[in-house]
Amino acid sequence: METETGRLSLETVASLCKRRGFIFQSSEIYGGINGFWDYGPLGVELKRNIKDAWWSDIVRRREDVVGLDASIIMHRRVWEASGHVEGFTDPMVDCRSCKRRYRADQLLAELGVELETGSKAEKDLVLPPGAKCPACGAGELTPPRPFNLMFETHPGAVQSEENKTYLRPETAQGIFAQFNNVLAVSRRKVPFGIAQIGKAFRNEINPRNYTFRSREFEQMELEFFIKPGTGAQWHEYWVNERLKWYGSIGLPEESLSRYVYGKDELAHYASACVDVMYAFPFGVQELEGIAARGDYDLRRHQEYSGKSMDYFDQETNAKYVPHVVEPSAGVDRIALALICNAYREEWVPNGEGEAREAEPGRPAPEGYETRTVMRFHPRVAPVKVAVFPLLKNKPELVNKARGVFESLQPRWNCFWDQVGAIGRRYRRQDEIGTPFAVTVDFQSLEDNTATLRERDSMRQQRVRIEELRGRLEEAIG
Ligand code: ATP
Repeated sequence: METETGRLSLETVASLCKRRGFIFQSSEIYGGINGFWDYGPLGVELKRNIKDAWWSDIVRRREDVVGLDASIIMHRRVWEASGHVEGFTDPMVDCRSCKRRYRADQLLAELGVELETGSKAEKDLVLPPGAKCPACGAGELTPPRPFNLMFETHPGAVQSEENKTYLRPETAQGIFAQFNNVLAVSRRKVPFGIAQIGKAFRNEINPRNYTFRSREFEQMELEFFIKPGTGAQWHEYWVNERLKWYGSIGLPEESLSRYVYGKDELAHYASACVDVMYAFPFGVQELEGIAARGDYDLRRHQEYSGKSMDYFDQETNAKYVPHVVEPSAGVDRIALALICNAYREEWVPNGEGEAREAEPGRPAPEGYETRTVMRFHPRVAPVKVAVFPLLKNKPELVNKARGVFESLQPRWNCFWDQVGAIGRRYRRQDEIGTPFAVTVDFQSLEDNTATLRERDSMRQQRVRIEELRGRLEEAIG
């Protein structure tokens, strides 16, 4: 696993994710399988919240976008039309002696080779003469060869070349293939979008950086269909929208950046592409790509299927194949970014006072203790509210607290905990990133109030129980 570049190492994140039940290695009891991951009880909530936030903002709260859930396995012609059969390859290099396999561009980076931008050597990823395998130090390397990243499969009983198709390497093509059907039923006019969330599969040569580059992952893609000639303004619009959205789930502006593709880096059909980048512990890397793809995809499907992809514009009486702007994000990468961003170790005073960031590797000073806290934005926090009775052996406290829990649970994912000292219960919630905790104590029995504790400031306030839901509604949404 790669190491750190900032305040946090990926090892720390991975071990926390396993301990707390965010992410496990797939098939761990059999030694694991490279490039595949399972999300545990907290991870699945985090991922669901990311997808819900995206779906709500991209589909439900907009009148110009509708949803789709296409199948993962589609007709092989879809992938011929899209260009994936021919061109969805990464150049790979093998070590002839230790058999290690590299992606050629990553190998060059590992060897410290910089090729002149735009040069033929860069395009063909030419290895320097005499380059040796960095893993074994001795092995001779093969020249780069194209390796198709799609997983093959054969629907039906016979495994033949005729019935070969692929697990989708992106969700987008399902949208293009259903363009006509969706257009016919949704009564939308261009500009309008079709959105989809779902699994995608890529047989990555070298899965790495934990879940960042996996072989099975989830995408959230929007194909926003526009009038020819309006690509530049819609592209800019979507780049801004998407950057704002990352703020709304708690990624700070300073952790995000844009990578603007130069003309020579763009696919031949694309007129613009911007990647939204996040500063991961292993470097600044892509979370989402936003591309203005022209009419390439619909035109290719028109050509390969023989079905017209024309749109009739009633206002201008003109017919055209719509162009498209595509914001394409990865759920797993966003989950990893949120986890990295949320993780803090703090020194908190035993009495009153502010917490401060812990100094790595040093014990807490006198009068302080160390707490681990996940500062998730309430929108994505796996658990929103924890409810505690102060003592578990006082039925009147337990009953009253249970009433509070049951009144909040239909609205949010809540957590009930009656075991251990109250301070320890707060810490356990801090560690999983629960933004609010409600404690029912003896005063609650007298005046129907409870304490509402806020995770980040650790401040506690007395709130009337009947006002709790409204207060939380404001804070969580
Ligand atoms: P990269 O250059 O990192 O391989 P890409 O540019 O090929 O990514 P796209 O094809 O634009 O990625 O896919 C859109 C999004 O899907 C990416 O921004 C990323 O969030 C997600 N994604 C792509 N490949 C993977 C992967 N192997 N593992 C996890 N997420 C991925």
